[in-house]
Amino acid sequence: MVWKKLTQNRKMLEDVSGFKIIIPEGHMKTVPLDCDICGFLMRDYSDASLYSKYGCCASCFMKWVEYDIDGWHAGRRPTSNEIEKEKEKRLLQPSYLVK
Ligand SMILES: [Zn+2]
Repeated sequence: MVWKKLTQNRKMLEDVSGFKIIIPEGHMKTVPLDCDICGFLMRDYSDASLYSKYGCCASCFMKWVEYDIDGWHAGRRPTSNEIEKEKEKRLLQPSYLVK
């Protein structure tokens, strides 16, 4: 499938079933449903916003990126062992807060 240029700075993509997607030329990159680093579901705007800048969710940003932004930009990523430990820790946290 190839994007076709339309008028008024728009482009169109037609899939095999004939479904057409029309978006502005400068449309921002899409955000996946799950984080590329931890695999957890993207939940809100902060996840989407940080994904577009750093390629990870807000939780991964706070855990690994913000303490070493230069290293992150240079390509440093957590090991699979570090990611698994962090995922186990997050799974033990409650998914909601009760007041
Ligand atoms: Zn993540």
